[in-house]
Amino acid sequence: MLPDARALRQDARAELRQLVMAAFCGVLHESRLSPQAVLELAAEAIGSVYREVADAHLGDTSCPCGWQPEPAADIAALQAALARVAAARPDFDLAQVEVAGRA
Ligand SMILES: [Zn+2]
Repeated sequence: MLPDARALRQDARAELRQLVMAAFCGVLHESRLSPQAVLELAAEAIGSVYREVADAHLGDTSCPCGWQPEPAADIAALQAALARVAAARPDFDLAQVEVAGRA
């Protein structure tokens, strides 16, 4: 049986979390930056990835996938996602994400 969209999304979430956590730990140990400073750099990296992907979907030679960036709404959604998870209680849905991330 093929995994449903929710399972695929959960797997993607867990994979990205694991990659970001590994990158965060690496930069934290290699730099003399505080955890907050490293997290701010990670947030900047996400923002720059958004900008680059959005730019690839604009103009005459845009990606054929059909996504049409709406920067104001897209950035608001990114900010809301960050705030929703960062402010969540530890027993929030994240427990499942952490288990899957270690699998
Ligand atoms: Zn595309």
